[in-house]
Amino acid sequence: MDTLKKYNIAFVGLSLGKHCYNYDLDEYFFECFEKTEVEYANVKLELVLEKSNSMLVLDFNIKGKVKLICDRCCDYYWQDIKSSDRLYFKFGDTPYEQSEKIIVIAHNETHINVSQYAYEFVHLSLPVRRLHPGGKQKADNCDPVVLKKLNELLVETDEQGFPKASAKDHWEALRNLKNN
Ligand SMILES: [Zn+2]
Repeated sequence: MDTLKKYNIAFVGLSLGKHCYNYDLDEYFFECFEKTEVEYANVKLELVLEKSNSMLVLDFNIKGKVKLICDRCCDYYWQDIKSSDRLYFKFGDTPYEQSEKIIVIAHNETHINVSQYAYEFVHLSLPVRRLHPGGKQKADNCDPVVLKKLNELLVETDEQGFPKASAKDHWEALRNLKNN
């Protein structure tokens, strides 16, 4: 886990006020996490830490590209991601997560490792539907060979192997019936 050492921030030695840190989140970062959905990435993390007497406020600003698998054609594509999230670290007797945004750390704690939070914020910014970014036609940038195969498989055939009428043909027939 040496890769994640550089994400340790020794906040005890810091002066009060804002401190800025910049990190590159790449494939070596993501491979430290067993359940990652990201294999290849070119993501910048700008972390702003504000230290006061009572707490630490951390702003995670994430921007870049991650390689995902397209739901439509199963080929890789680059997905743009961007997010801004804030976490509050307060001091207490027992460390625990008070809420999604508020974390209590022990009074004698000296470091915060931000890697797990950065990892989670990147994953939260991934889209639910993963698709090649569209041109004029939605599937413009998908793998054409795979799409052709998929379309062939989607054509229904009758017992003799002849293609059945498409949904559009059914609709057209219905409309003609109504008009007559
Ligand atoms: Zn695709």
